[in-house]
Amino acid sequence: MRRLTVREKQSCALCWHSHRSRTNGHPRQNFFVIQAHPILPLLAALLAWLPSRGGAAAPISRGSDVEIILRETQPLKFPRGKRLPLYLWTPNFPADADDTKLDARGIALFARWDGKAFAKASELPLRVARLQKKLGLETSVDATDLTHGFYDKSPATGHLDKDGNRFFDKSFFWSPGCPFAVQSRYDAMRARMEPWIEKYREARLRLDFWAADWEFDGPNEWNDGWAAARKCETCRAKIPNLDTDFAAFQSAVRKVRSEMQREVFVKPIQRRFPNAHIGNYAMNAHDGRRYWWDFFEKRTAGLPMEKEHGALYRPWAREFEDSGYTVAMPVIYTWFNIHGDYPFANHQYRWFYNLMLEASGTGRRSPPAIPRVTFVHWTTTNAPKELPADFEALTEANYEELLWHLLLRGHDTFAMWCPGPELAQEIRPVHRVYAAALEYREFLDLGQPLFFDVPKQPGSIVSALKVGQRLLVRRTDFGLAPDVVEMKMLDGTTVRVPRSAGKCAILPVP
Ligand SMILES: [Zn+2]
Repeated sequence: MRRLTVREKQSCALCWHSHRSRTNGHPRQNFFVIQAHPILPLLAALLAWLPSRGGAAAPISRGSDVEIILRETQPLKFPRGKRLPLYLWTPNFPADADDTKLDARGIALFARWDGKAFAKASELPLRVARLQKKLGLETSVDATDLTHGFYDKSPATGHLDKDGNRFFDKSFFWSPGCPFAVQSRYDAMRARMEPWIEKYREARLRLDFWAADWEFDGPNEWNDGWAAARKCETCRAKIPNLDTDFAAFQSAVRKVRSEMQREVFVKPIQRRFPNAHIGNYAMNAHDGRRYWWDFFEKRTAGLPMEKEHGALYRPWAREFEDSGYTVAMPVIYTWFNIHGDYPFANHQYRWFYNLMLEASGTGRRSPPAIPRVTFVHWTTTNAPKELPADFEALTEANYEELLWHLLLRGHDTFAMWCPGPELAQEIRPVHRVYAAALEYREFLDLGQPLFFDVPKQPGSIVSALKVGQRLLVRRTDFGLAPDVVEMKMLDGTTVRVPRSAGKCAILPVP
């Protein structure tokens, strides 16, 4: 397993919620509590009435993150209408900031559902939700902290060896047990979530967007997951040909994961809030492959993978659709390994190529009715302390190009993940693109993505949205490229796309 990098350790050390060890997670799940709407002056006044928080350790650097964000962004020039806001998913956000300025920038944040005792933990989110209701604002919540713990290491959730002993897969830091023994945990897990949902319903509050980063839990077919299952009597009885049929095992695992999320997260929310947007990290429709590796996944020999240059793409089974989520949350992060996995002399294209494969797969497959709120991160993710001599990070300009192509390939908005120290760097490009794209709101709202090609060698990437007889086009060149690129639409019509560096173009349909 890959060790935690310096970057991750820093994130842990700086994280506001790092003292909470129950969920045993990566810094990404240690998200912050905040609401960003023009209610915060009012909220600040209300907070003054709240009882003391009992001497709990104060979050570090309160105030500084808002200052950074306000300094690095400007109010929107073009109205966002009914488009989703830009979500910031980042620590250390003070709850007493003047938030009208954030709302003017199209920036929104999540109120946090915390795993601590309900009565105390719910105080702030409920107050926020009451105010939001009063002012007609949407309510978004991050329930990550309540979602982990299906596998609680209790013997009943373990695999079962031939001698009748329970065992767990230690190749993941949450030590998953048997996929066919986790169902006994549904009631207990629902019991953590339901008081929250019920409270919102009872109080006739809104719940517009429920999101989580549930990933460090549940059965998993990678690392030693398959090897562990092959030693389990229960798994052997449930899956014919388990020894040789990885696809059957993967499909069974993902089916169980879908059921867990549907029964424990999605259904209880929908019973009370049938129209809520509901989504989870890395849960999205896809083209059958996963092009990236999360930090806890190791490249285990003997598992099926497709190799392209040094990159390994994995077969990925259906999970999103059967979970019942109503928002897709794909992940487009600059994982460090991507740079070394490709031999392209144009180093920028190494990033672009991989990330566009992932972005295009999910952009193309997601049903249009399901919004895509895509997790993004620019600065190199999971980088080692010592970088290779030839290492070249993705430039800010090319990151912005990438975000434009996401928008023109069916992604709706972004959820920016970043550890605190990166905030100033990360917010600038993502907000610049979010704000500038609103000039083309008609295309974003109504347009059909036309192109999903990703050239196998550095060249021109072209993405487009079509509304009526007009195309909104973005073209980004890597290496040598002709003055005019010819792109074929589905009906065979050829669109001639001239150079337009750093800008969108509106072209007529030929
Ligand atoms: Zn098992």
